[in-house]
Amino acid sequence: MSKTDKATKAQTRLHNQQLILNTIYNQGTPSRAEISRITGLARPTVSELVLLLIGAGIVEELGLGPSEGGKRPTLLKIVDNYKSLIGLDLSKHAFQGCLMDIRGNVLHRITMPLNNKTGEESLQIVYDLIDQLIDANSLPLLGIGIGTPGSIDAQKGVIRRAVNLGWFNLPLRDLLNTRYQVPVHIANDSQMAAMAEFTYGIKREQSNLIVLKAGRGVSAGIILNGQLHYGEGFGASEIGHVRVVEKGKKCACGHFGCLETVVSSRVIVEMAIALSSDHPQSILAERTKTRQVFIDDVIEAYQHGDEYLHILLEDIGRHLGSAVANLISALNVKHVVFAGSVSGFGAQLRDIILREVRERSIPTLSNDVSIELSTLGDDIVIKGATAILLANELGII
Ligand SMILES: [Zn+2]
Repeated sequence: MSKTDKATKAQTRLHNQQLILNTIYNQGTPSRAEISRITGLARPTVSELVLLLIGAGIVEELGLGPSEGGKRPTLLKIVDNYKSLIGLDLSKHAFQGCLMDIRGNVLHRITMPLNNKTGEESLQIVYDLIDQLIDANSLPLLGIGIGTPGSIDAQKGVIRRAVNLGWFNLPLRDLLNTRYQVPVHIANDSQMAAMAEFTYGIKREQSNLIVLKAGRGVSAGIILNGQLHYGEGFGASEIGHVRVVEKGKKCACGHFGCLETVVSSRVIVEMAIALSSDHPQSILAERTKTRQVFIDDVIEAYQHGDEYLHILLEDIGRHLGSAVANLISALNVKHVVFAGSVSGFGAQLRDIILREVRERSIPTLSNDVSIELSTLGDDIVIKGATAILLANELGII
């Protein structure tokens, strides 16, 4: 057998092994016969490769299932605590980290306030967060996945530019590799959110998808033909720094009037507080008397009927709708998922965005567009980080 033949054979074997692993992961408790039916692989091939997966400790036999006419089949399952993984979300006011099993069940969770720290100081918080998660870990660690704001060279694991954190050309993956000796995967937070929606979300069956993420920053994760689209310089998500207001406020990026200066959670809170001080009888004004107000307080006041916030919501929806109209017109993608803390305003804001999309783009494109609210909750970036780790380290998608 030639060298090339051997390589091809090894590749086929690996491919088949991953196919079987994916089937067990996604089916729950299939038998060998079911795996053979689903994958189209011959029974002996399935048996041989399952044996290897059991030997590696990632698959186990569960016991006997119901008979399908003959002998009762042995059911297989993934060993949930085969290894643990760490997922980090650095896109919020507090850094969040989770230690999880390979099913994504959270084993331990830590949140560390950022207190507006940047540069070296914010990097130290990343180390502290991972150190504490590792202290709580009793399993072999598969790797670390991180969703962070800014432009990220996902291939090299370098943060090219994260203005809110004051990180420029930070080789985060190498730093963490050296310190923890495990695989590290880094992507922009909205790209991680897109991976999460693609892997676990409502749009799992779609091969094209835009995830609009609005929170501390504003960006869009794009999946094209089933692949995360990074762009030529890994910046294919940076819609937050397109100018939308002439002579607008200064943005953290140094420019003026960026989308982020009108729809980020911080700006929404500032504008809502300003509105409430003009209307001392409003629900939000009551709140601001007793404590510091965050985006969740503004959303809650809105949901409790704070009428003054409706004006604000129209503005936010108009700006986000304009951004989505540009995205769907450039890419002709039909499915949009709205995520991030600002999406907490719910269906009302979603409907304003959709109305704007329809008004601002040609009907042949926008009539087919649907915008859905993410159902993955607060952990969406961490879930995406887990999805990237499972895909890259185990071939599970
Ligand atoms: Zn900007």
